[in-house]
Amino acid sequence: MPVIVDQDKCIGSGQCVLAAAGVFDQRDEDGTVLLLDDSPPAESLDDVRRAAVLCPALAITVEES
Ligand code: SF4
Repeated sequence: MPVIVDQDKCIGSGQCVLAAAGVFDQRDEDGTVLLLDDSPPAESLDDVRRAAVLCPALAITVEES
């Protein structure tokens, strides 16, 4: 299940990190999202989906297979 982030859309709110800390992080300089794992393990999928829903910038895409 690939995960894609759009750093141009990201507004650095940090919701993704709160939802799935092992998959997302934020750049120290400006808070822009960093994708730590673009193919997270099955046990993380619910957290990743929640991050995508919570992201206020709709910057996270989860490609369901
Ligand atoms: S939740 Fe969305 S806007 Fe906020 S840091 Fe993550 S990707 Fe960026």
